[in-house]
Amino acid sequence: MPLTEDQKAEIAALRAETRPTRRPTVPALEEILYEALPVLDHGFVRVVDYMGDDAAIVQAARVSYGKGTRRVSEDAGLVNYLMRHRHTTPFEMCEIKYHVKLPIFVARQWIRHRTANVNEYSARYSILDNEFYLPAPEHLGVQSRANRQGRGEALAGAEAQRVMALLREDAERAYAHYQEMLNEDEAGTRLDPEREGLARELARMNLTLNFYTQWYWKTDLHNLLNFLSLRADAHAQYEIRAYAEVMLETLKRWVPITYGAFLQYRLGGFHLSERGLAAVKRLLAGEAVTQKDSGLSPREWREMMAALGREG
Ligand SMILES: Cc1cc2nc3c(=O)[nH]c(=O)nc-3n(C[C@H](O)[C@H](O)[C@H](O)COP(=O)(O)OP(=O)(O)OC[C@H]3O[C@@H](n4cnc5c(N)ncnc54)[C@H](O)[C@@H]3O)c2cc1C
Repeated sequence: MPLTEDQKAEIAALRAETRPTRRPTVPALEEILYEALPVLDHGFVRVVDYMGDDAAIVQAARVSYGKGTRRVSEDAGLVNYLMRHRHTTPFEMCEIKYHVKLPIFVARQWIRHRTANVNEYSARYSILDNEFYLPAPEHLGVQSRANRQGRGEALAGAEAQRVMALLREDAERAYAHYQEMLNEDEAGTRLDPEREGLARELARMNLTLNFYTQWYWKTDLHNLLNFLSLRADAHAQYEIRAYAEVMLETLKRWVPITYGAFLQYRLGGFHLSERGLAAVKRLLAGEAVTQKDSGLSPREWREMMAALGREG
């Protein structure tokens, strides 16, 4: 379980408190505010704060004095228009802050998204928990032959067992050595009173990339959508996609109209190149177009055909 009893009590205390405000709040998001939504084996995502709602986007787009909202259908029409035409600044009026617990190798992909404010747990100051990610058997994929950046079917039998044993042994040994170098246990109690122990900022360097770290991550809605369009996509690595999928659920609660527009025009849509569009026009006209005469690369052709639901 990712949370200790003390942490659970802190969250419960926060959730028990309410404050009157004139600012807009979103009941569906309030329902899960502060709650740790589990991801992978020890990770989580918690919404810890937010500003704005769907109406704030409409309000900004119309630069209105009041709520700016008209009928829900009109607001949805406007949000769809903004999304379709990449008129993005109204989405930047909304902000959200997450607390995320994630394996270090996932954090390395995530941190590439520079348009967010991040504060990470300090392993110079504190001792990292003895928690590391082990993939569920169905996610222990073989190296994909078609995509060098991907995985295929799950490993099976003795090889799968051996890989799991190696992952576990390496992480356990690394953590045991970490504690030995620190000369401290997880609670910070000295193990050998005769020894000094290495600084925390140095001892951490032997830990494997599947150990968990934590951060607060704050971004605006425009950049959150960019993050989700890349990381909730089927091509993203499963482990970061698992986080993006939970965040999509928080997006649905927070700004349901924007969520609908995002699925419609970005996540569920497909971008065509000029040659791709020409090939689709020819296909619609009943022509038998092949990859070679379309001028598309085999990969782009495969991706387009998959999006169109047709055989390559
Ligand atoms: C499937 C996949 C595979 C990937 N593989 C690799 C890989 O092999 N190696 C690797 O290094 N990375 C890889 N990445 C990371 C990728 O290149 C981006 O760094 C990452 O997705 C962040 O995207 P971003 O720059 O749009 O996001 P953000 O940093 O949030 O930026 C959002 C937008 O702001 C603008 N922006 C931000 N900072 C700058 C800047 N300094 N200059 C100009 N414009 C800026 C850009 O328009 C950018 O699109 C991969 C990502 C994905 C999704």
